[in-house]
Order: sequence, then structure tokens, then C-alpha cells
Amino acid sequence: MASIELRDVRKSFGTTEVIKGIDLAVAHGEFCVFVGPSGCGKSTLLRMISGLEGITAGEIAIGGEVVNRVAAADRGLAMVFQSYALYPHMTVRQNLSFGLENIGTPRREIAEKIEAVAKMLQIDPLLDRRPKDLSGGQRQRVAIGRAVVREPKVFLFDEPLSNLDAELRVGMRGEIAGLHRRLGNTMIYVTHDQVEAMTMADKIAVLRLGRLEQFGRPLELYNHPANLFVAGFIGSPK
Ligand code: ADP
Ligand code: MG
Repeated sequence: MASIELRDVRKSFGTTEVIKGIDLAVAHGEFCVFVGPSGCGKSTLLRMISGLEGITAGEIAIGGEVVNRVAAADRGLAMVFQSYALYPHMTVRQNLSFGLENIGTPRREIAEKIEAVAKMLQIDPLLDRRPKDLSGGQRQRVAIGRAVVREPKVFLFDEPLSNLDAELRVGMRGEIAGLHRRLGNTMIYVTHDQVEAMTMADKIAVLRLGRLEQFGRPLELYNHPANLFVAGFIGSPK
């Protein structure tokens, strides 16, 4: 069974249709990258999957269940943003525990989870600091940690590394890939960076102007681009 299925998903803002009928199935445990130029609809699509944005038409299913009317908090997903979206007045530990306290997780269990996740992401020495006292890479690790402690079925990443410098970005790519290997969850990762897409993805969805141009494994796209746009974007001659 596909982990996430989109069936003729559409979105309009006013009279402008920005997502123009997308069909896509992400298999369980797959690392799927949505790639495409700025403004093509990547974030909108991800926000519709997460439930932060309503859909105008079509169907979204998660684990076989149609979630069109399921609230974001009940979809079993966690989202990581480019801007980190950490709570500035809280320590790292509080940022990590906040979501768990909200759903009534026992204190002891919260402490154990935070310890394990902090160790895994190497942020254990930072637990008592506030976000302003962290580097960009450390902040993004905390944002990822906050998603991991909630043990979501699916992780959604929206350009999580775009604010980081090039060298750090390469390191963090490896960390997120490692996280996927360890946890085995379904992950959808949005980027406008072709290299990121080619190196991280099990499957790549190439988007352009609200349409899906091609969906396949990196090498399939590279060797057999569906059209000139995919060929140019992925960087191989056709
Ligand atoms: P991407 O993430 O690929 O850069 P977005 O999903 O952010 O693209 O945007 C896709 C299109 O939808 C753009 O043309 C953008 O201007 C438009 N758009 C996104 N959000 C809104 C909104 N809340 N209201 C109106 N237009 C929007
Ligand atoms: Mg975006």
C-alpha cells in the first residue's frame, strides 16, 4: 500500500490555479524529493499533504485513508521548515518537549525520548540553550529533533537546508539521509536544488508550473528524461 497518494490534487488561490491536477504515489519508507524552480508549487503541495493548506479538488490519502477532512494535527506527520520555526523564548529542551507535553506524554517518557534524540542528532550539549545562541546548523538539528521526538509516520521537509552555507548543507544532507536509513519512515523532501534531489532521493517528482513533469528514480530521470524541461533541469543532455 502506498504511504501517500495524491489523486488529481488541485489548488486555486482566488481564480488562479497553482496546482493543476497532480497524481502521485509515494511508497511506504520511500525518500521522495519534490524538485522544481521557485514558484512551481512545491510548498503549496507539501502544505496540502500536511493539512496546513486546504485542497480545492482531488484526494489525498495517507496510509490508505483519505485525509481531506482530517486536521493537520491528526495526520501523523511532522514538518521541518527552512526557517526552523523554533520557539525563541524556549530552551532547546523545551522546544523538543513542547509538542509531547501537549499530547499528554508522561514526563519520564519525554525525558528519555529527548535524551535519545538529542544524542542521535548531537545536540545533547545544547539542551539548555535558547535558539538565538545556536548556529544555523544547530538550529536545524533542533528543528529536525522536534519532528523526530513526535515519532511521526511521515516526515515532510520544506527546503530545510536553504539557509545554511554550502559546506554545512552537504553535511546536513548526509545527516538527513542517515536519519532516513535509521528510522525507515516515509519522507518527502522539497528542494529547488537538483544536486540535493539527485543525491538524496529514492524517487524524484519534478514539478513545473503546478504540474508533475516526471516521477521516477534519479537515474531514470537522468537517463530517460520525459521532456526537455526535465532534461535541462536535471542536467543531462537529451
Ligand atoms: P514553491 O514552493 O515551489 O516556490 P509555492 O508553493 O510557494 O512555490 O507557490 C506556488 C504558487 O502559488 C506561486 O505562484 C505563489 O505565488 C502562489 N501562492 C502560494 N501561496 C499563496 C497564497 N497564500 N495566496 C496566493 N498565492 C499563493
Ligand atoms: Mg517553497
